[in-house]
Amino acid sequence: MSGSAALSWAVAIHGGAGTLERGEGQAMADAYRASLRAALEEGKRLAEAGAPAMDIAEAVVRMFEDNELYNAGRGAALTDKGHAELDASIMDGSTLRAGAVAGVTTVKNPISLARLVMQKTRHVLLSGDGAEQFATTVGVQRMPPEYFITPRRQQMLREYLGSQGSGTGLDPSVPLADGQGAASHAWSPMKFGTVGCVVRDKAGNLAAATSTGGLTGKKWGRIGDSPIIGAGCYANKTVAVSCTGTGEQFIRHTVARSLAARMELKGETVKQAADYMIFTELTKDDGGLIAVDADGNIAMPYSSEGMYRAAADSSGLFLVRIWEQ
Ligand code: ASP
Repeated sequence: MSGSAALSWAVAIHGGAGTLERGEGQAMADAYRASLRAALEEGKRLAEAGAPAMDIAEAVVRMFEDNELYNAGRGAALTDKGHAELDASIMDGSTLRAGAVAGVTTVKNPISLARLVMQKTRHVLLSGDGAEQFATTVGVQRMPPEYFITPRRQQMLREYLGSQGSGTGLDPSVPLADGQGAASHAWSPMKFGTVGCVVRDKAGNLAAATSTGGLTGKKWGRIGDSPIIGAGCYANKTVAVSCTGTGEQFIRHTVARSLAARMELKGETVKQAADYMIFTELTKDDGGLIAVDADGNIAMPYSSEGMYRAAADSSGLFLVRIWEQ
């Protein structure tokens, strides 16, 4: 996935770093592979037709948002109260223009609302009620909050809450004022599944998009890395990046922007910079990312057991993977 001559186009997609347990069912794995392939085929079709990178990234992410297998749009991971609160962001590498939304609850395709924030406002990130008001202003498709909630995610939430006992949701490693740990259980992020797409289009422009329901059992209006430009999503003229994993870690390490900086300041290749961020900067099991550089070279490292991912380019590459390298 790396060559010397620039490729005419390249598309990489991810459906999250937290995967099925191996053996969780062949039928499920097949369903994931089929949906990854369908999204990649659409990305490839648009790229070959000369569509702009931003259009391709948005279209691919919308497909995942409409598919309840993925933790974005319908099928989002649920908050501790059982609600879906959706985050998304998109960035145009050719202009550094970006848009993002956080904590939306009725927008069918948060990625499209994020793009409208970029196109129609002077802001980058809108959240909660304000983002919902903006959605009304621009007239995007809405759904009742129940549309986003699936039995599978409700089951995951029950398992998560069960594993926490009467946990408070506070970090057990941080002492409270009385010196006691906040909870006796280690906090574990349950099954990621965020989606993302990075594109190098035929004109040589880059774009990145990321969309998620966040982490199962999240509390207090928690916002992860996915709508944070520079953390879970970034694109400039060097590289486009979309991340998945424990968002707090990706925010702390400003993963997406740091990857770009390593390429620009240290002269690393996209693979070197991506590997460094995932395997050296972050901790094992924090997650993974996809990145494409200006020549169309793709990197897709992860330190979790697997990562739903797929990539295609103008040289004929077309691969769909879950666990295998
Ligand atoms: N990064 C996302 C978040 O922390 C979760 C994921 O990748 O699935 O909100």
